[in-house]
Amino acid sequence: MELHVQEVTAWLERANENIQENKEYLTTLDQAIGDGDHGINMARGFQEVVNKMTDQDYASVGDVLKDAAMTLMSKVGGASGPLYGTVFLKMSVAAKGKTYLDHATFTNMLEEAVKGVKQRGKAEVGEKTLVDVWAKMMEFFKQNADLQADDIAEEAKQAMNKTKDMMATKGRASYFKERSIGHIDPGAASSYFIFQALAEVVGG
Ligand code: ADP
Ligand code: MG
Ligand code: MG
Repeated sequence: MELHVQEVTAWLERANENIQENKEYLTTLDQAIGDGDHGINMARGFQEVVNKMTDQDYASVGDVLKDAAMTLMSKVGGASGPLYGTVFLKMSVAAKGKTYLDHATFTNMLEEAVKGVKQRGKAEVGEKTLVDVWAKMMEFFKQNADLQADDIAEEAKQAMNKTKDMMATKGRASYFKERSIGHIDPGAASSYFIFQALAEVVGG
């Protein structure tokens, strides 16, 4: 993979499209084990990311990601705002000074993002949060030097689906205790849409 400013911008645009298309679905998931606002939160946040990007002339991939992080932190709201903000901010820092993202750089970005989001939300793998998707993808990138678009999308989908059988022990869903089992985590689903968008850009 070789993602320049143009591809990173396209990634965020695709992510926004996927999230807008699945806004109702994300809402439905959050109605089951939360307060039903995840679709609204993510749709608002990613639309703002795209709106802001449109008038900018970015000098580097790190700048694109940093701008996205700032927007997500301020516009998403809810628990997921600062968490996604952290994910993108950590990725931007790890991408600093790079003219484009290759597999190794992207893997490092995922490592930093996972470290940061775990710290921020005090969540580990298996607690039925978006961490489950990001950590799984980080491992997947670490273990596979050559990834095709379909592999990325498929792995992310599996990671999302795995949250269905988990019991939530962090965030609002944890109030549902055992009753959280049997539902896909909303944040894991929005994370899947972000990786699906990445796959689309990697696939060209
Ligand atoms: P809120 O729960 O404040 O309404 P959202 O509905 O936008 O916020 O986001 C909920 C999602 O945030 C969850 O599905 C989960 O993936 C993620 N989340 C919540 N708390 C945490 C946490 N402590 N660590 C990691 N992710 C979390
Ligand atoms: Mg919610
Ligand atoms: Mg909320």
